[in-house]
Amino acid sequence: MAKILRVNMTDRTAAYEDVPDKYKFLGGRGLTSTIVHDEVDPTCHPLGPNNKIVFAPGIVTGTNAPTSGRVSVGGKSPLTGGIKESNAGTGWSQLVGRLGIKAIIVEGYPTDDGWWGLHITKDGAEFFPADEYTGKGLYEVYPLLFDKFGKKVGIASIGIAGERKYANSGVCFNDIDNRPSRYSGRGGLGAVLGSKHLKFIVVDGEGAPGVEIVNKGLFDQGRKKLTQALRSHDITKPGGGLNSYGTAILVNIINEAGGLPTRNFREGRFEGAAKTSGEAMAELCKTRGGVGTMGHPCHPGCIIQCSNVIPNPDGSELVSVIEYETTWAFGANCGIDDLDVIGKLTWMANNYGMDTIEAGGTIAVAMEAGLAEFGDGKRAIELMEEIGKGTPLGHILGQGAATTGKVFGVVRVPGVKGQNMPAYEPRAIKGIGMTYAISTMGADHTSGYTIAPEILACGGDVDQFDVDKAELVRNFQYATAFIDSTGHCLFIAFAILDIPEGFEGLVEECNGVLGTEWTMDDVGRIGKEILAKERAFNAAAGFTKADDRLPEFMKYEKLPPHDVVWDVPDETLDAVFEE
Ligand code: SF4
Repeated sequence: MAKILRVNMTDRTAAYEDVPDKYKFLGGRGLTSTIVHDEVDPTCHPLGPNNKIVFAPGIVTGTNAPTSGRVSVGGKSPLTGGIKESNAGTGWSQLVGRLGIKAIIVEGYPTDDGWWGLHITKDGAEFFPADEYTGKGLYEVYPLLFDKFGKKVGIASIGIAGERKYANSGVCFNDIDNRPSRYSGRGGLGAVLGSKHLKFIVVDGEGAPGVEIVNKGLFDQGRKKLTQALRSHDITKPGGGLNSYGTAILVNIINEAGGLPTRNFREGRFEGAAKTSGEAMAELCKTRGGVGTMGHPCHPGCIIQCSNVIPNPDGSELVSVIEYETTWAFGANCGIDDLDVIGKLTWMANNYGMDTIEAGGTIAVAMEAGLAEFGDGKRAIELMEEIGKGTPLGHILGQGAATTGKVFGVVRVPGVKGQNMPAYEPRAIKGIGMTYAISTMGADHTSGYTIAPEILACGGDVDQFDVDKAELVRNFQYATAFIDSTGHCLFIAFAILDIPEGFEGLVEECNGVLGTEWTMDDVGRIGKEILAKERAFNAAAGFTKADDRLPEFMKYEKLPPHDVVWDVPDETLDAVFEE
């Protein structure tokens, strides 16, 4: 019987509870957002005693469904002040699912200065002192923990960014080779864990009973249909786009479309794009050899395998992984065209426990403020070191791009609800801009990846400059909220958008596990219900329609090369959720 594990950091207890009926059919984002909605006061301080942080594997996570090792992490965000769900792919979530744990709720507040870890096994959960691991890089600390608890455990943790309560801190999970490299990065949830002095959650799956599956036949039928779709779609199949070049295959594509934000969103094309692309990474792996790998899975059972291990010139490991968002954040957005520098910056973000999108966006805003020249990789590394050392400047930068912009009087700060924009220029690609504006999460491309039909001709083919996209944006957000609840990686969306049997398979898998009778129509309903809870939380936290807007400079600064401004009417934005 699945359980909820409630962890209280005031009296340091960890106790199992039955899953209330109302949570029975929820998982992943649906469950984290519902628990945050039900249990967290929307007006609380994100770093105070009344916030909570919730971990939930998806509905099928821990089964052999393909590409389904995602964990959702939720709470009130220190970066946006609103609700947050950020998910990562990691074997950690599969172990949690197999132990029959539907959610871990961390609440309360420390009563002294001590730091703690939690060790979860099939027999229960016990605290261990973690002071000796604080103030250190995660690349140093993870091997120590794997030595202590065994190589097969999974580790969730915060780095020094979370310890210092930086608003750009993420929650870090181990990848398939036990690196500290998979992140629920966005929104500063690492700081929430830091505020509670919980440094690690170590999970041992030895002897775990496995995920309960109500209808095994139906589950297997769905799993096979989805697997077949993933294995046949050009973007997701073995040897396909994601597998061969990683997510950074998008660099050249988005650059060509004039939508690659360059030098802090001053331009839409970067002259160094090709040098920072997935193709360039694949070439490095080929020519440098050594540990260099494309087509690497972030967790067991991923059949898309879009991750990578990037080598140094001598073939040793520089870093894993450089994603599209990361090569852009430290690359085009900072005017840097050197993959070795981008790799070093990525390693530093992993080591400190930070969101690479927010970190790159912050350095770009710092460059705008004159703290460095655009393109100066050496100075970018020095700024990251300030964050790592915790100097006064580092503390400012660690609070993210919006705070940095305020401190240094920068007008061009490309964020929504305090969260820096990801790697798609909203002036050149209107639907993703609308998604940034109205997402409950702040500027977030994963809330509704309209890039698929706007640029990739996947799931439809729409004009990137068309501003009449309220319905498209709404439907993508609903479908995404559902996928984020299943435990599947969002990248399955490419295949299921184009292959109806794949979509059917996704729903059948969920019905097989839960014993539900959902149809394809229920996907939209369930997504809508999740969004309604998130929007209600944000409204109670004080957000209004005025917060569902892009920054003013995008309305009057023309973006080269298309010389376009942000021209989606406010009424269109407001219409997205006014069905
Ligand atoms: S597709 Fe990529 S990000 Fe998604 S689960 Fe697989 S390796 Fe991880």
